[in-house]
Amino acid sequence: MKLPIYLDYNATTPVDKRVMEKMLPFFTDTFGNAASRSHLFGWTAQEAIENAREQVATLINAEPKEIIFTSGATEANNLAIKGLFEANYPAKKHIITVKTEHKAVLDVCQHLEKWGAAITYLQPDSTGLITVQQVENAIKNDTFLISIMYANNEIGTIQPTKKIGELARKHDILFHSDATQAVGKIKIDVQKDKIDLLSLSGHKLYGPKGIGALFIKKTLKSSKLTAQMDGGKHERGFRSGTLNVTGIMGLAAACELAKKELLIDNQRLTLLRDKLEQGILQNISDVKVNGNIENRLPNLTNISFGKVDGENLLLSFRDIAVSSGSACTSASVEPSYVLKALGLSDDLAYASIRFSLGKYTTEEEIDFTIKYVKEVVESLR
Ligand code: PMP
Repeated sequence: MKLPIYLDYNATTPVDKRVMEKMLPFFTDTFGNAASRSHLFGWTAQEAIENAREQVATLINAEPKEIIFTSGATEANNLAIKGLFEANYPAKKHIITVKTEHKAVLDVCQHLEKWGAAITYLQPDSTGLITVQQVENAIKNDTFLISIMYANNEIGTIQPTKKIGELARKHDILFHSDATQAVGKIKIDVQKDKIDLLSLSGHKLYGPKGIGALFIKKTLKSSKLTAQMDGGKHERGFRSGTLNVTGIMGLAAACELAKKELLIDNQRLTLLRDKLEQGILQNISDVKVNGNIENRLPNLTNISFGKVDGENLLLSFRDIAVSSGSACTSASVEPSYVLKALGLSDDLAYASIRFSLGKYTTEEEIDFTIKYVKEVVESLR
């Protein structure tokens, strides 16, 4: 067993070697620009892109033409929310979202407030869940978008996405879901869940960093979503820029593997996660699990440790790679806004750790982690 043990799979995942193999030829041999229409190099790249589009679409039960490749989920969220705002404003300007969304949604909303958007930030319950009733109560005449994430990156809580989708459709409001942490971890079906736009990212599912996609349902007219990147009108005009062919090959291969291996991985990860969680709960006093136990990602547990200084705690975990709060905001030492929205005190939010497991996590690593966490916490107390 190699130290430190990586238990931060929600921050990012290693690229699966099988994924890398699929990418390699596209760096050197099949290096064409997918937009080159006049020769074989371009046609070959273009064909590979269209196959990739199909593999990504298949994982979420979409159609290939509904997939727009982006540089990741941050860009997909920006395109969805800003693009819809620009096409709807000033006739409609109201967006409904939740306080515990990722910053790549919240900061976009805050940005749009400066341009005249009205945003409702729903308050989740103490487990991170919102109810459909809350969403319905927030709807106004000029609501054009509900943006609610599929599963939370810090606590793993899975929102009642299907019910929100049904509500949105009933009111003729578009529904965007940031599914970055859900795709590849649980089964997603945009048809069943009535999702109109969905963001996903390669590096959360054993694909490379810097590639992602926005699903845009085919019935959404291009006039209803304004591109945020102008240029050569790639990706049906929704996102200009030479396609990241290698990245797209990686994302597609990762999606294909996820489709095949998801269920097996899930069962194993749930067992390991539960073992870790129970090991900590039973062996260490004053600990509490955050998030919604019934509706939660299979690979994650977020645990608060009472009676210990949070910053010391994270710094002391030298043999395990875990995170407190989200890695994306870890430049600041603020306590997690997600945990604070659930009602945790600053102190307890600081002393909360996200353990996120992945397909290379072993039982031996989990056994070590349980003992190690106990030792560290007790020594700090
Ligand atoms: N949304 C969520 C829920 C995430 O967890 C992340 C990654 N931390 C993002 C968006 C941003 O994704 P990317 O790194 O692909 O920009």
